[in-house]
Amino acid sequence: MIRTHRRRRLAIKPIAASPLGRWIQPGTWIALYLALIALPLLVLLLGDRPGGGGFGWDFALALGYAGLAMMAVQFALTARFKRATAPFGIDIIYYFHRYLAVIAFMLLLLHAALLVAIRPEAVGSIDPREAPAYMTLGWLAMLAFVSIMVTSLLRKQLRIDYDVWRRMHTVLAVLGIAFALLHILGSASYLLTPFKRGLWITLALSAIALVVHVRVIRPWWLQRHPWRVTEIRQERGRSWTVAVEPQHAAAFHYEPGQFSWLSLRASPLAMREHPFSFSSSPTRPGRLEFTIKALGDFTATIGDLQPGMAAWVDGPYGAFGVDRHPDATGHVFIAGGVGIAPIVSMLRALADRGDTRPLWLFYGNRRWERIVFREELDVMAGHLDLHVVHVLGEPPDGWTGERGFITREVLARHLPAGRHGFHYFICGPKPMIQLAERSLRSLDVPATRMHSEIFDLA
Ligand SMILES: Cc1cc2nc3c(=O)[nH]c(=O)nc-3n(C[C@H](O)[C@H](O)[C@H](O)COP(=O)(O)OP(=O)(O)OC[C@H]3O[C@@H](n4cnc5c(N)ncnc54)[C@H](O)[C@@H]3O)c2cc1C
Repeated sequence: MIRTHRRRRLAIKPIAASPLGRWIQPGTWIALYLALIALPLLVLLLGDRPGGGGFGWDFALALGYAGLAMMAVQFALTARFKRATAPFGIDIIYYFHRYLAVIAFMLLLLHAALLVAIRPEAVGSIDPREAPAYMTLGWLAMLAFVSIMVTSLLRKQLRIDYDVWRRMHTVLAVLGIAFALLHILGSASYLLTPFKRGLWITLALSAIALVVHVRVIRPWWLQRHPWRVTEIRQERGRSWTVAVEPQHAAAFHYEPGQFSWLSLRASPLAMREHPFSFSSSPTRPGRLEFTIKALGDFTATIGDLQPGMAAWVDGPYGAFGVDRHPDATGHVFIAGGVGIAPIVSMLRALADRGDTRPLWLFYGNRRWERIVFREELDVMAGHLDLHVVHVLGEPPDGWTGERGFITREVLARHLPAGRHGFHYFICGPKPMIQLAERSLRSLDVPATRMHSEIFDLA
């Protein structure tokens, strides 16, 4: 089923690759991240310092300040700064955000536990009627951070809807930082000079300003740069391809394999955006396409979209793509189900550019009739040096091809011997990605040549 709408032209160009820039940038950003955490701590040690607390007391306070600095910088990690995220891919940054949050939380927990253990009389009562306000604010900050940890790490087990969780996460994070700031200002230990107080106030307020940037300013900008749905095409396997075209003049540059956050039916300010890879190629300018599998509340409604509806695109993001590795002598793609979306974007780009390098696609699906882009892949195999290996979970009678999962044996049977310079791109369900990575490792593929895109940010 295809529904179409009038087309408009726009310049969607690929981003120029700069290998040198890509090597310099990650180091610069990591150094900046470490500096942002270390500097406010080092400043505390300059000039007058409170004395008499003993090592344990000072150590516990240092843990608290370190945990808080890390928590504040967490806001920068999810602020979607394209320059900062481009060298790593924003999905990797989100994972980093998750692990660092656990470390920061452990530091804060240790801070509180040590103080209670070492000097319970100085910590005082937990009862807000007896405790000084700054101590109550400290406990409230801790409560906010505990709630963030529980709801984030156990979101799926607690069955918290993603959109609800995201709003809750934002509110709790802002409250946690605000309470913690008031706590350290009230306790005044180490923040003895206006400069030191000013620095920590700036750090905490910058974190809150980043939330305003991501949740208000950027969505407001996006709302003023709308796109329009121009085509909804039914694909195999309960999937739909949605095409959108711009209703504004701002240029949009992306690489094949990247993704965007897409808002449909609700303005970007409503925080109901969902991440989807481009299945279109930047070599075919004028429109963006997303291929979406009906899996949950939002994706199940894609088939009901109508041409002419408004859409908003926040992107591009991600570092999953062949353009990042121009020196590769060939590529191996491993896809499961709708994980083919970013891979077909890359294949379309390679076909349009007349790429002559050898390409292998291992494509896992349950059934033959559910294979998204099956016919197009056959056509592309005629234009590219592309070898498509279908692996079916429930093959039809008489099937002579591969069956089951994409295992080490399946890969070893088809991959050529001279593939030292190849890069490997894996996208699909998490268990499939894990199996593929394990299998490739056992086939001596170095980790630096494996690139995976997990369709799950949290
Ligand atoms: C980088 C990336 C690229 C993706 N590309 C594609 C693609 O090309 N095609 C495709 O079909 N799917 C893609 N996905 C998956 C897609 O985003 C989810 O399937 C979709 O958001 C689920 O929404 P739902 O309400 O239909 O499902 P639900 O059943 O409500 O949610 C299922 C799970 O999807 C995740 N999820 C839900 N809502 C969001 C949200 N707003 N933001 C982030 N994650 C969310 C959560 O982990 C949730 O538990 C991609 C995901 C990521 C992270």
